[in-house]
Amino acid sequence: MVTTEGYTARPGGAQAKLLAEVHEHEQERNLSLVLAEFRNYQQGVMPAGPGARDLVGFYEQIDGALARPSDTPPHVRTGDQDLRNLLSKRAGTLHLGSANYCWFAEPAKALCLKLAGTPNASKPLTGMCDSARCPQATHHPCHRPIWAVTVTLTRTFLGSLSRPQKSERIRLQAELDRAQRVVDEIDSATAPATTKEPDADQ
Ligand code: SF4
Repeated sequence: MVTTEGYTARPGGAQAKLLAEVHEHEQERNLSLVLAEFRNYQQGVMPAGPGARDLVGFYEQIDGALARPSDTPPHVRTGDQDLRNLLSKRAGTLHLGSANYCWFAEPAKALCLKLAGTPNASKPLTGMCDSARCPQATHHPCHRPIWAVTVTLTRTFLGSLSRPQKSERIRLQAELDRAQRVVDEIDSATAPATTKEPDADQ
């Protein structure tokens, strides 16, 4: 309330100014997150989740461009500020889910919009997010605690079910399997490269 008082008291366009400042703040926060994940990628700490391959591909492009000075615009060099310029468009697509990052670059691919029957919406429906299945979702080490808690709680609920609650047992087991898979994927993607198992299909 105190924060917005100055804006509401100002005649004409105050709310628009407030929204613009909020947007600017969010963009700055997103840039910091995208940059932090790019640094993680450079250290071998990879994203997990259905959108991981796409994000890694993007980071590879940035890495490649920075490694080839002739491909890099003259005003862009390897300093943090210049790197942020390269990452800014991607940062504009980032939405923060409670247990994932949502890269809302293509509304047509958004699982939440498909489920809601609103494929042309301009924003994701994070309340309907199914990040384990959406191609625009990634999971990172910062999301591991919430998935690990989900595993623990779901396991506890499963253990407390009585024998006749078969459909509930099936539903909870699927939830447990999904949460455990996300935890395992995050662990696998963030393990030091030397300890990673080779892919089965390699
Ligand atoms: S399902 Fe989740 S990750 Fe996918 S677009 Fe919707 S909010 Fe984003």
